[in-house]
Amino acid sequence: MRSIPFRLNSTGIISLKGSAAVATLTGALLSSGLQAADTYDGATGQVTAPVVRVGDDYYRDVVITVGTIVSIGEAAEGDPNYDTYSGDTGQLSIPAITDGNIFAYNVVITLGALISQGGMCDSLADCLGEEEPEVEPVASDHAIFYGAAAFADWVETSYSADSLALTTNLTTPARVMLSDAPTLVSDANYLSISDALTNFSGYSAEALGISSDSTYRTYYSKLLRLEAETSDSSCYHLRSHLHPNFAIDVDEDDFDNLKFRNNFGDAATSYGYVCFTYDESTRMLQAKTRYNYSASDFTYTQDSSFERGNYYIKLANGGYSLVPSSSEATKLYFYDSPLDFSVPFDFNPAGTTPVANPAAPYVSKPADFNLSSLSSEYTAQVKVDGIAAPGANATTRTAADAMLLKIENSLASGESLRYDIKVYAAFRDGLLSSTLQSDGISNGVLGQNLVPYVFFTNEEDSSGVSHPYMVIMSYGNPGSPHGLMDVPRPPGLGTGSYDSSSVTRFTNLDRYAIGIPMKDYGEVSAVDDNESVLSNQLWDDVTGSKGARDVFNYASANDNGIMISGAVMFPVYNNRLMPSQADAELSANGCHVGQGGGGPHCHADGYESQGVLGVYNDADYEGKEHPPLVGFGYDGIALFGVYREDQDSQLEGFGTALDAWGGHEHDSLGYHYHADRSKSLTLSIPGAAAASYRVRSLILGAYKGKLTGTPYFVGKKSGNDSAFLGGI
Ligand SMILES: [Zn+2]
Ligand SMILES: [Zn+2]
Repeated sequence: MRSIPFRLNSTGIISLKGSAAVATLTGALLSSGLQAADTYDGATGQVTAPVVRVGDDYYRDVVITVGTIVSIGEAAEGDPNYDTYSGDTGQLSIPAITDGNIFAYNVVITLGALISQGGMCDSLADCLGEEEPEVEPVASDHAIFYGAAAFADWVETSYSADSLALTTNLTTPARVMLSDAPTLVSDANYLSISDALTNFSGYSAEALGISSDSTYRTYYSKLLRLEAETSDSSCYHLRSHLHPNFAIDVDEDDFDNLKFRNNFGDAATSYGYVCFTYDESTRMLQAKTRYNYSASDFTYTQDSSFERGNYYIKLANGGYSLVPSSSEATKLYFYDSPLDFSVPFDFNPAGTTPVANPAAPYVSKPADFNLSSLSSEYTAQVKVDGIAAPGANATTRTAADAMLLKIENSLASGESLRYDIKVYAAFRDGLLSSTLQSDGISNGVLGQNLVPYVFFTNEEDSSGVSHPYMVIMSYGNPGSPHGLMDVPRPPGLGTGSYDSSSVTRFTNLDRYAIGIPMKDYGEVSAVDDNESVLSNQLWDDVTGSKGARDVFNYASANDNGIMISGAVMFPVYNNRLMPSQADAELSANGCHVGQGGGGPHCHADGYESQGVLGVYNDADYEGKEHPPLVGFGYDGIALFGVYREDQDSQLEGFGTALDAWGGHEHDSLGYHYHADRSKSLTLSIPGAAAASYRVRSLILGAYKGKLTGTPYFVGKKSGNDSAFLGGI
């Protein structure tokens, strides 16, 4: 460490008073922008310098004696507000000095003696006694560096269906609304699931209208998944679209009121559902049978003690109940859902009929995050006053912003982050805004944070080189309805034949702690370039003869990135080297639960132009200059939404073709991926015409980000130093 050398051979002090260049007064000092002039004390002959720069370091309150005066100059624009000492010449340059009456400018002296100094400062600002600069929120309403809105926010945005059509054909399963009016009138009542659990025994079934200030939630809470019994196709039960673990049941202990009760996945108290017939001429729904749900083996058995068979649904006093007589019943009309939640053709190109295999058990995973080992340097980003602060929080956000600025300022020359720090801040904001809005996760709680913590680290390796990471702790589930009941042919569990397997239709909380490298380590030019780092790629698992590695097959056998919703993503290919889409194993969201349980991971882009199926929506694009940020690859490359056909030609990068990895570079954005649907594949089905479908990719497969320089990487072959994640 350099310091100001002591010199014991103090020489005579020359008074500054009366020297030729001394002229101006305090006003000039202020006008030149100097904040702190040195002071000269004629009695002691000492000069006190508020700040002295030596090399790259700054010292405060330096008191010296003058050796000789080398020169005296004039005041100049933009003079620095500190003295500069050169060890080579032994000279101190003083921009301004005063004895309290007159000033001298740009005085160069040799040092007599160092009398005292107040120590080295952290920075010039620190020396000048300035407050640390106020941390501007890094993420803001930016036209390019912005994340897709969380489902929790989107569902509250205004929406009104253009029209509603009476259901003419009760094919199941179907998304419908149930009204008491045969036409679209403003005072119609629709059966809705209430906002909160009532008496812990279920959500109320309420009769509500659609007001002029309706939102997506208005419709989501009225949408019902109409399901026919396997054993009796004329008998239907009504499941909530918004809270898919809950279906209409009757509470015989509560005046035969209808309630949405838990009969799917895990249930602390498992109830059942009532199955109804519908008479299209009388427009009455009549209870027929009831099924009890067993959460221990996920089976339904007919309730032999059900005493409300043949009862009718009656609407009165804002609620629904069962009544014995048709004369008391209310006519009810099914309307088609104005929003399309069906699995698109591209996700079921062979037209596979939905399988009836039983649901596989949900998996219990440890779902707590331990922050106790996190280095104290980073706790302010996840805790407030020592208490864990999950989700969006103004205080932890300020700390995270400050860390981003620190990371940016600590980059050595020649180093850079992949993106503007606004991109990372926007992703953090988006992740932390993800809360569970759909009561459909076996062990999830409505409203809970799905990504409780996101923080930034900046650890040095043994050579003193910093490697910043974005660390994400996620439960691995989106906040929106999961759509797993609609998957035509979900992954099967077990080693036997598919027909004898149970299939994944439940979701449960998972626990991910993911570190994403932020520094720009470059990009590969061939997939083999990352070979020394990567283990457990799909290609590695292929036994026998296999072709060369390519972008599709040299892809992670597990998750390869995380969506802004908190769900993780997988490559286009599944572990049979088939596009997941071709196997009819995905929901309309492009996701499914794998054999290991957890949340629905996404192999494909669920974006649709209406309603939220994926994690982003048309509303995200409004007023913007680039598609929204929707995810991050584990290689540090950001994933943005699709360039929509016929709509986005004005957006930045629209004309810049995506490369073989599905990414490109343009304007102010470094290399990044896009969701894409420009590739078509042909599926040949024995005995049928070849079907062409579009791959709706998230991250295609192989990583474009060069990984050889990263000290930590998910699933790295060797030398994986998780210390870079802050000690968690
Ligand atoms: Zn999968
Ligand atoms: Zn782009």
